[in-house]
Amino acid sequence: MKPIAKSSKLANVGYDIRGPVLDKARQMEDEGQKIIKLNIGNVAAFGLEPPDEIVQDMIRNLPHAAGYTDSKGLFAPRKAVVHYCQEKHIAGVTVDDVYLGNGASELIAMSMNALLDAGDEVLIPSPDYPLYTAVVALSGGTPVHYHCDEGSGWMPDLADMRAKVTPRTKALVIINPNNPTGALYPVEVLQGIVELARQHQLIIFADEIYDKTLYDGAQHTSIASLADDVLCLTFNGLSKNYRSCGYRAGWMVVSGDKRHAKDYIEGLNMLASMRLCANTPGQLAIQTALGGYQSIKDLVAPGGRLARQRDLAYSLLTQIPGVSVVKPSAALYMFPRLDPQMYPIQDDQQFAYELLAEEKVLIVQGTGFNWSAPDHFRLVFLPNTDDLTEAVGRIARFLDHYRKR
Ligand code: PLP
Repeated sequence: MKPIAKSSKLANVGYDIRGPVLDKARQMEDEGQKIIKLNIGNVAAFGLEPPDEIVQDMIRNLPHAAGYTDSKGLFAPRKAVVHYCQEKHIAGVTVDDVYLGNGASELIAMSMNALLDAGDEVLIPSPDYPLYTAVVALSGGTPVHYHCDEGSGWMPDLADMRAKVTPRTKALVIINPNNPTGALYPVEVLQGIVELARQHQLIIFADEIYDKTLYDGAQHTSIASLADDVLCLTFNGLSKNYRSCGYRAGWMVVSGDKRHAKDYIEGLNMLASMRLCANTPGQLAIQTALGGYQSIKDLVAPGGRLARQRDLAYSLLTQIPGVSVVKPSAALYMFPRLDPQMYPIQDDQQFAYELLAEEKVLIVQGTGFNWSAPDHFRLVFLPNTDDLTEAVGRIARFLDHYRKR
C-alpha cells in the first residue's frame, strides 16, 4: 500500500500547546495517574463556570437555534459587538464590519487565508500564541518574529519590528493582553506600533481576547481606537472573559481605512460564506454576554480568585533559585525564565517531558511559543490555590534535582 502522507502545507506548522507532551499526559491519565495541568487556558475546566445568565440563555435558545444564519452572523449579536466597539472607542464600525466565528481561532485562520500569497510576510511576536505562526505558514505566508523584551515587561521591541519590515511584509500581529507573557501594552507602545503600520501600510491584526482579564485595576486600550486611518482586524470572543471556551463564540471587527481593502474584504466574505456560519447558540450567547454584567471582572479584582492565584503563583515561582518571572498585568499566564547557568536545558520539550514523568505536572515549553531559546516555560494559573501550591512545589523539587544532576 502507498503510504498516506500529510500535506506538505503542514511542513512548517506546529501547535505545541496540544503537542506530544500532552499526548504523553493523556496516556498517563489513561493509566490512572493524576496530572496537575498548568498547560491550557481552559477556564471552565477549573471550576470557573460561565455566568448563569449565559448558560440559561443558551438552554432557552437551543430549541430555536438549529438553523444556519447569515454567513457573518445574526444581526443582534453583531449589533452588540458594534456597541462594544463604541465602548472601546473604535470609530466607524457598522454591523457589516463584524464577523462572528466558532471562536476567534476560526476567524484568525480566515483572516490570514484570505490575505496571504507565497512569500508574503507577517510580523508576529516572539513569544507568541502559536496559532498565528501556524496559520500564517498554513496560508502559504512567512511568519517573521519580532522580539518582545522581557527586560521591559515583555513589551514589543519596536526597533526590532521596524528592522524586520521588508517589501513583502503585509501585516503585523499584536496580542494585547498577551498570551503567554501576561503583558498589557500602554498607549504609547500602541501608538508606536500604529505609526509603524501607517508608515509601511501594514494591516494590524489585534488579538484582544483577554481585554477584560486585567489585574490591579488596569485599563485596556484597543489599538484600533488609535488607528482610524490604518486597516485593523480586531479579534475577541467569549472564551476567556466569559469563561465559555467550549461555546466557541468569537468575533472579528474590520475597522480603519477600508477604501483600499475592498478586494481583501471580498475574500473574507467568501471564506465566511464557505464555512456557512458560526454555531447559532454561540452567536446568541454573544448578545447575552455583551449586554450583561457577568464578565470575569470580579475574579480579577483585588482579592478575586484569579488575582489571588496570580499572586500566589508569582510569589512561589520567584522563591525558586534561578527562576525569574515578569508579574502578569493581565490574562491567565506567566512565562518564567530559568537561568541557563543553573539549568543548562538543551531541549525544553524534553524538559517538559521529564517534569511530567517525574512530578506529574504538565506545562508547555517556551519554544512552543516560538521563543528561540530553551529557557522559558508557560504556566497557567487557573488551578485553585491548593493545586497551584502543590504544582509549584513539585516544579521546585524537580528543578532542585535538575540543578544537582
Ligand atoms: N487568541 C489567544 C491569544 C488565545 O490565547 C486563545 C486561546 O487560548 C485564542 C485566541 C483562541 O480563542 P477562541 O477560543 O475564541 O478560539
